[in-house]
Amino acid sequence: MKKIPFLNFQPMHEQIRSEMQQAFNEVYESYWYVMGEKLHTFEASYAKYNQTRYSVGVSNGLDALILALEALGVGKGDEVIVPSNTYIATVLAVTAVGATPVFVEPRLETYNINPELIEEKITKKTKAIMPVHLYGQACEMDHIMKLAEAYNLVVVEDNAQAHGSSYKGKLTGSFGHVNGVSFYPGKNLGALGDAGAITTDDEEVAEKIKTLRNYGSQKKYHNEYIGLNRRLDELQAAFLSVKLQYLDQWTQERQQIAEMYNKQLKDTNLILPQVANNADHVYHLYVVRTQKRDELQAHLNNNGIGTLIHYPIPPHLQNAYKHLGYKEGDFPIAEELARTMISLPLWVGLGKDSIKKIQSILEPF
Ligand SMILES: *Cc1c(COP(=O)(O)O)cnc(C)c1O
Repeated sequence: MKKIPFLNFQPMHEQIRSEMQQAFNEVYESYWYVMGEKLHTFEASYAKYNQTRYSVGVSNGLDALILALEALGVGKGDEVIVPSNTYIATVLAVTAVGATPVFVEPRLETYNINPELIEEKITKKTKAIMPVHLYGQACEMDHIMKLAEAYNLVVVEDNAQAHGSSYKGKLTGSFGHVNGVSFYPGKNLGALGDAGAITTDDEEVAEKIKTLRNYGSQKKYHNEYIGLNRRLDELQAAFLSVKLQYLDQWTQERQQIAEMYNKQLKDTNLILPQVANNADHVYHLYVVRTQKRDELQAHLNNNGIGTLIHYPIPPHLQNAYKHLGYKEGDFPIAEELARTMISLPLWVGLGKDSIKKIQSILEPF
């Protein structure tokens, strides 16, 4: 029985093997490994790709979000609105700068933050909204931006799962004042290790983040801020520049795979992904829902099909956030999603035959 893993880099990485090796050789022989030409080239290309004036490469997606909040002056005593069903890193960024996360439930249909529920959570302490384009689907950004404007809040998009996605034709990662993106290997645009970036149109903020990622210094041995080392190295930047050229092609393939799943699974009882009006979906993950989730996962596993749960425990119920005082039942939609979600294999090179096989195994559901 041929196994189908949840994620397999092989077809993607075979396709670009020689270009990636060339990129490695160039860095190897440049004898310059941190903060050089490869970084600057990638930053310029990614800014252009994302249609923002600036992009600043950093160590990973979590650091990108932390730097975004830091640069905007979000910190102790401030409240930041986040979805109740996000990956933990969104919330970790908020607490890393000393602010308090305020959870807002997602829509049950799209799994993205419900803008209609944001206003009631805004207080005098609210400083920022962090929409997360979960699984690759763009949030309802015009509603969110209107609220931010009305209440004088900053917006930091968590664009870690949605490279190249858009709302009403405008790219995710170009709405917020500063936005964070991850290039973790498994993301739609992934390095061969940890990497991330911020995107922004604000020159001052871009400059500040360039400083903060590098010990708080731009001029060697002159320190403006108490910074840390959160740089993106030359090798990863060079690899990312190669992969960026293929991103749109790979996104199209992801969307085709999702369409095939939609067609193949339409007669099952599974709840399939729904895309909101005006939103694009780049299918970082293909997530379906069923009350028999654990049974379904075991059944797929017994048949050699890899799956993952994104995510089994919502942030408000994590041990790390016990001190926030939430309990089960506080965010019923996030909890229901955590109980019923399962992600099916979706990767560049996953063939039609694999999808047909997964369909036949899923028939009883
Ligand atoms: C991956 C991810 C992050 C964090 O990115 P890293 O590069 O792994 O630090 C943040 N938010 C979301 C929604 C993610 O999926």
